[in-house]
Parts: sequence; C-alpha cells; structure tokens
Amino acid sequence: MPDRTHLTGYSRMELIALFEEMGEPRYRADQVFRGLHERRLTSFDAMTDLPKTLRERLNETAAASALKIESRYTSVDGTRRFLMRTLDGNPVEAVFIPTENRDTICFSSQSGCALDCDFCLTAKLGLLENLTAGEIIEQIILVLNDVYGVGGETPHGTNLVAMGEGEPFMNFKNLTRAIEIMADEKGLFIVPGRITVSTAGVVPKIHEFAALERRPNLAISLSAANDELRDRIMPVNKRWPINELLSAAKNFEKTLKRGERFTFEYVLLGGVNDSDEQAQELAGLISRHNLRKVKVNLIPHNPAEQLEYQPSTPEQVKRFKAILESNGVSAYVRTPRGRDIYAACGQLAAKQEPNLVQIAKR
Ligand code: SAH
Repeated sequence: MPDRTHLTGYSRMELIALFEEMGEPRYRADQVFRGLHERRLTSFDAMTDLPKTLRERLNETAAASALKIESRYTSVDGTRRFLMRTLDGNPVEAVFIPTENRDTICFSSQSGCALDCDFCLTAKLGLLENLTAGEIIEQIILVLNDVYGVGGETPHGTNLVAMGEGEPFMNFKNLTRAIEIMADEKGLFIVPGRITVSTAGVVPKIHEFAALERRPNLAISLSAANDELRDRIMPVNKRWPINELLSAAKNFEKTLKRGERFTFEYVLLGGVNDSDEQAQELAGLISRHNLRKVKVNLIPHNPAEQLEYQPSTPEQVKRFKAILESNGVSAYVRTPRGRDIYAACGQLAAKQEPNLVQIAKR
C-alpha cells in the first residue's frame, strides 16, 4: 500500500479506490490525480476544480506534498542542484541537467546510502531513510516546476536517471511503484524507456528487474574488474561478487530487444583502477561473460575533500577508452556536469554551501 497520507504516491487506480471508500465519485479521484501529476500541483487548495468541502476534507486527512526545497544551486554549465528535505528533515537531492535537445533529471531513491562505496560522498551520510514512492515522484515535480513553472510545458521531454543519493535496488518496491505511477498518461507520462536505473550490484534485484514487464534501462556500477579491488572500493562486492554480478547482467541482457543495450559504469580513479592492464582486464571480463549488448560509461572521478581518490589524467582516460574499443567494447567518457555546485556523480552529500550562488527564490 502507498504511504497513507501523501497522495502523490498513489496510482490512479489506488486513488479511485480511496475515493470510493471516502464516498466520493470516481471522477474526483481522476481530477486529483491529474492535479498532482499532470498539473504538478503541490496543494489541494490549488485544485480549484474541486468543491471547497472536498479540498477541506483532503487537507484534514491527506497531503499533496511531502518535500520542501531547502536550497538550490546553479552551475556555470546550467546544471541545477536541489537540496530538499523530507518531513522528517532528511536530505533528498535532485539535479536538473539540461542538454541541447533533452533534459535529464537525476533523482534520489534513498536519503543517504548504506553501501559505503569508498569513492562516493553520499556513502558518508550512511542510510537515513528509504524514500516513499510519493517522495521519489515529487522530486521530479518540484524540479520541473522550478525550471518550467508550475505545470508548465516541458519542451524537451524529460529523461530520468536514478543516480542521485541512494541505492535504488535497496528500495526496489517504492522505486518500481514510482516508475509505474510516473508512466501514467494522465499524469507525468514519463515512460520507463526514458528512465535509467543505476545499481551498485544488488544481484537478486537485477534478476527481479529483468523480469519486469515494462521496465527502465539498466546501468550497473562496476568500477573494478577483479574481486580483490572491487571488494576494497565497493564493499557490496563481498556479498555479490563479480561472477554473480556478471551472470545477472548476462541474464538481463538476454531479455533485451534488438538494438537495446545496457550500461556498465566505471568510475576512473587515478592510479587505482585506470591502468592499461586494468582496461584489458575489463575487456577480458566482458568477453568471458559473452556480454554483447553492453556499453561502458567511463566516469571521471569527481574529487572531494573527504575522499582519498584523484581523477585519472585526461591522457589515461583516453587510453583506457581506446583499449576497450580496440577489444570491441563500446566506451564513452561522461562529461562531468555541475561540479562547481557539488552536483556531479558521487558529490551528493546534502551540502549547504553559503558561498555558492543560490538561485533567487521566486
Ligand atoms: N547506488 C547506485 C546509484 C548511484 S549512481 C549506483 O551505485 O549505481 C551514482 C554513480 O556515480 C555510480 O555509477 C557511482 O559509481 C558514481 N560515483 C560515485 N562516486 C563518484 C565520484 N566521486 N565521482 C564520479 N562518479 C562517482
């Protein structure tokens, strides 16, 4: 069942059932669903198509919002980072990343994270809470409203990546529920094909994900090609080592349609996992597991004071990519976005930055 009071986490069908229980007609549930997801309203009072008595009743028993934007930062490259809070005061971060012909919103699945990857700042927060489906969806609503105005048209379409705070597959139920609700054509209408879920390698959930009927794209954060190193930088590997992870990836690959691919993400840590030999090792691993529909996204490490790692040199990034390619593996280097406002991969740690320029409050 959805969170009892935050109606943003209800599917249209569940909302209809709830309204039936309340003795309200079905079309009222439709109005509220459209109000929350299509018009992106965050209060019942703004739903002026509802009778005042119903708005009052909803205000007494339910909520149209469970997140507050605490601060917003804008990067020289146009990226925006939003620091939000749950009602319990836990941080939730989302990042708006504009590119020429599409927008990407990076959202959080948890507040903090339990996985303790050594190169990631979110890990330092520990796990604070699993976000509800409503909280996951509301991040998208608040970001779109901030950029395009409340309910405003989104001219470029919206891609979503579950690459903010948290490990999405440690909050699988709420995540898949949110994805289903966001796909509703009477709501946000962001279909699973526009969404990418990134996991550090929670193997049983990769299998579960593979079996979903309408499912998003999958990215797996690999970042090391042998267990000895991966155990060290991504402790989740001790529970689900590389062989199991790649078997799950192979199983997922089998369910892909023609032309579809999935991704390995590989954070390049200078002098740790970026040597020529390690590139060869990664290519070997991919070939040994007979993975044919994988592309590798190389992510230059985003450094931070509390992290011991350094980025690879640009020359080494090029070499690493070239070695993969010469072994028949497609590889891309991801350009870091929003580094100056701590919005890039692995930098989300709920930082309040008095010295950063905040976007003027509307
Ligand atoms: N827990 C999920 C979702 C987080 S996605 C996962 O691990 O996949 C965040 C991506 O950023 C992951 O691929 C992660 O490996 C990467 N990342 C983490 N810290 C980073 C850093 N400091 N610099 C660059 N990328 C980093």
